[in-house]
Amino acid sequence: MARYTGPVCKICRREGVKLFLKGQRCYTDKCAVVAREYPPGQHGQGRVRASEYRTHLREKQKVRRSYGVSESQFRKYYQMARSQRGATGENLLVLLERRLDNIVYRSGFANSRAEARQLVDHGHVLVNGRKTGVPSFLVKTGDEVKIKEKSKTLDSIVHSLELREQRGLVNWIEVDTDAKSAIVKALPERKDMPMAVEETLIVEFYSK
Ligand code: SF4
Repeated sequence: MARYTGPVCKICRREGVKLFLKGQRCYTDKCAVVAREYPPGQHGQGRVRASEYRTHLREKQKVRRSYGVSESQFRKYYQMARSQRGATGENLLVLLERRLDNIVYRSGFANSRAEARQLVDHGHVLVNGRKTGVPSFLVKTGDEVKIKEKSKTLDSIVHSLELREQRGLVNWIEVDTDAKSAIVKALPERKDMPMAVEETLIVEFYSK
C-alpha cells in the first residue's frame, strides 16, 4: 500500500486527537486540532452517526496512523501480537514501540516518527554498531541505537535533542545526549506507553 503523503494535520483532525505527526508545531497553538476541533472535509461539521464498527475502526486508525504504518503492516503486527503470550492489545503496542523509527523518536533524535524514519532510511542510525536502514527493524532489550559519527552534528538532530524533554521522556530507554546513543533497558509495559488508546477495541476490530 502506498504511503500517505497528504497533509498530516488532517489525520489528527479526522481522529479528533493530537497524534504528534508534525514535530514542534504540535506543541504550539498553530496545531490544527486546537484551531479547528472538527473533522476535515465539506461535511466535517455535520452530525456523525455513531456505530460500534466506527468506534473500533477509529481506534485502530488512530494507532496505525500515529506510528505511520500501512494497513498490511499493521495487520501483520496484530497477527504477531496474537501469537505471543499475554494480552494481544498490549503486545501490539509493544511491537509498535519496538520499531527502530519509534526508538529514534522516543530517544529524542527526531521531532516526529516521520523525521525518525527519514534518519533511518538515509543511513544515519546504527544498531549495535551496524548501519540499519530499515525503519521497521524490531529493537530488543539491551540493543544500542546510535547516531552515526558523521551525522551527530546534523541540525535536525541537535535541535530535536534540545526539545526532547518537552515531548516527554520514557523510562525504558536510557539516552546519552552527548554520545547521541540510546540503550533499550527493557521493553515497555502498558503503563510506560502514554498513548490514550483503548487497545482492546483494536483487538475487537480484527476479531470480527
Ligand atoms: Fe496533529 Fe501536530 Fe498537526 Fe496538531 S500540529 S494537528 S498534533 S500533526
